[in-house]
Amino acid sequence: MADRVYSAADLIALEEQYGAHNYHPLDVVCSRGEGVYLIDVNGRRYLDCLSAYSAANQGHAHPTIINALIEQAQRLPLTSRAFRNDQLPLFYKELLDLTGYEMALPMNTGAEAVESALKVARKWGYKVKGIPENCAEIITVGGNFHGRTISVISFSTEPQYRDGFGPFTPGFITIPYGDADAFEAAITPNTAAISVEPIQGEAGVVVPPEGYLHRIREICDRHSVLFIADEIQTGLGRTGKLMACDHEGVRPDVLVLGKALGGGVYPVSAVLASREILGVLHPGDHGSTFGGNPLAAAVARAALRVITEEHLVENAAEMGAYFKDYLEEINSPHVDHIRGKGLLIGVVLRPEAGGARRFCEALQQRGILAKETHQNVIRFAPPLIIDRPTLDSVLPDIRDVLLMA
Ligand SMILES: *Cc1c(COP(=O)(O)O)cnc(C)c1O
Repeated sequence: MADRVYSAADLIALEEQYGAHNYHPLDVVCSRGEGVYLIDVNGRRYLDCLSAYSAANQGHAHPTIINALIEQAQRLPLTSRAFRNDQLPLFYKELLDLTGYEMALPMNTGAEAVESALKVARKWGYKVKGIPENCAEIITVGGNFHGRTISVISFSTEPQYRDGFGPFTPGFITIPYGDADAFEAAITPNTAAISVEPIQGEAGVVVPPEGYLHRIREICDRHSVLFIADEIQTGLGRTGKLMACDHEGVRPDVLVLGKALGGGVYPVSAVLASREILGVLHPGDHGSTFGGNPLAAAVARAALRVITEEHLVENAAEMGAYFKDYLEEINSPHVDHIRGKGLLIGVVLRPEAGGARRFCEALQQRGILAKETHQNVIRFAPPLIIDRPTLDSVLPDIRDVLLMA
């Protein structure tokens, strides 16, 4: 058994037989990652244009991050928060110095951090704003994606994310995305918070109208409502600013980070806020066995260091503009429009194009891995370390695929 060599087809068959079928992956079986490239079991190299849904912004197996992982894993991987460790305080300090927030709550996955932000917002609503017990409302927007837990899907507007999973968590109100007037109209004395993604990645790289985040900020201030920004996908450089909210110069009250915070190697997420807001949590109110563990903290410190030292935010802005300009010049009959910011780019196909999947499969044939979102959008989101020669090496192939019959 141990000596047997499994072919790609063998591995796919095993996965299909034994694994829950909650994904429909492209049939590429990766066995190595190097920077912007993924290498399959046959040694074929692909440019990764998904970056693990922006978790691998620093590229695959970044040496600085891998070294931090190995060094910390050998020294001390886990203590639980019952004891202190020598990495978590430095992770806090470096994360808050970078982002300008006062306090952080470390978790593991994105959905957990979102859940934690919602809990903090509710508690703030009761203890600080004075909302009557069990009456807190949180406003959410159509097309949102915040993860897959039951409370989080309770306010999803995607039927498939909810079908078969009820009953749902009450206390959420949904308004259309991009409509600040609808937000103001939905506010009641019991509104604790609004939760928004500054750009909706999973909904198909949906960019709200200019000024939307600014108006959300202003309305939140006027009504004493917390602005929660889920920057799990858009944060840490992806859109060409450190945070996507920075495009409008807006500072949310509560910032949720995940994905690239773990440097493409380990799940690390966090909720950032002021002392007044995160201060509502007291010992025993909330927790996570793995949240804030020394391995996670060491990896996240290295992940942040790479973003800063390698100027990934600036590179995402530059390479993103170059990539988007190229796509906009192609003039394919299949393409309705191109949208996005930085290196989060959505190619929106016309309904007659026959869906994005066939384009993603054709890209795969040419050594480019991209994934469709919502049937008719191809998302291009390569690691932020990508350089111009690498982009130039694939752009003609992308062009050919977008122009195919
Ligand atoms: C991926 C994502 C999440 C969920 O993160 P997980 O780590 O998969 O739980 C939440 N919000 C946004 C915007 C995301 O892109």
